[in-house]
Amino acid sequence: MTSSLIPFLPFLLSFLSPSSDDPIAKKAHKIHQKVLTLDTHADAPIMMQKPGFDVGASHDTKRDGSQIDFPRMKKGSMDAMFFAVYTSQGPRTDEGHAEAKQNALNQFDLIHKALKQYPNLAELATSPADAYRIKKAGKRAVFIGMENGYPIGKDLSMLKTYYDLGCRYITLTHFANNLIGDSSTDPDGPMYGGLSDFGKLVVPEMNRLGILIDVSHVADSTFYDALALSKAPVIASHSNCRALCDFPRNMTDDMIKAIAAKGGVVQVNFVSDYLKKPSDAHRAAKTKIRMSRVGKVATPDMEAKIAALSDSVSKVYASERASLTDIADHIDHIVKIAGIDHVGIGSDFDGVGVSMVLKTLAKSRT
Ligand SMILES: [Zn+2]
Repeated sequence: MTSSLIPFLPFLLSFLSPSSDDPIAKKAHKIHQKVLTLDTHADAPIMMQKPGFDVGASHDTKRDGSQIDFPRMKKGSMDAMFFAVYTSQGPRTDEGHAEAKQNALNQFDLIHKALKQYPNLAELATSPADAYRIKKAGKRAVFIGMENGYPIGKDLSMLKTYYDLGCRYITLTHFANNLIGDSSTDPDGPMYGGLSDFGKLVVPEMNRLGILIDVSHVADSTFYDALALSKAPVIASHSNCRALCDFPRNMTDDMIKAIAAKGGVVQVNFVSDYLKKPSDAHRAAKTKIRMSRVGKVATPDMEAKIAALSDSVSKVYASERASLTDIADHIDHIVKIAGIDHVGIGSDFDGVGVSMVLKTLAKSRT
């Protein structure tokens, strides 16, 4: 770690004891209170879809596995967060797209309902100015992003619908290829060699509306196509460095530099597998789980089963868990090759498996 990391330390250190006498922790805490803290990728809507989960009430991670709610955001001085409307990649059929669209609309509805229910705790943000205003009012700023462009289907006009509902970035693909372009992790390999013809219409329309193009998860070819086509800077809402953890889902130094050259930002995530390279056996077990959902319609039952399986694999390979230092190393690497203005944090909380995060943080304390 270097002094260049100081702006990020407050967020990381917020998990540690607030009564620490460490002067760096104290300094970090002070900065943390002062700056606008933003996490660009959180899967809070996954928990919000669970019956009975109340994002306006404080929860205990050890009890229900959740990592985000408005009271805990306040406690951790997390000012602004992008809640991701996430759909796993199902069949690329009319039926699959209709299902994904309904799923996405339900999640927008859940977020809006929660914000309506708790006007004193949080507010929808659709611009940087909103976030600063909402922070000043002592509330949490909730931005909305969409992880996977699957719910767009073949219908370009859906982009305006999602924009009007508050969506301000779309991650073009998830774990598998969709109609927009190739994913970095599709088990069947590339379909288009980058953006599809439809994807080449999606990018300019997102530019026109003012929806950020998010290149986390996309194949390298899709990344370069999107970067060349976009008139606006692009972001990676939750991506790490391939130089430190060799995996196609992570970004090469050249990609990181290219994002920075266009004025964009790479937001580091806390997913152990993308921070520190797991053994081949561990990776294979995780890949098997991840791919078990591809091509299927997502249901809460399926998501719960996948989360449980993922947790059990994490337990078996607990010794390979990444630590807080690994997170800092990825941030530091981006600072070194692209500059501090081009790095941020997109934790993937509520989307990375609870035991993974708890163990990562527990390990960081030792
Ligand atoms: Zn993701």
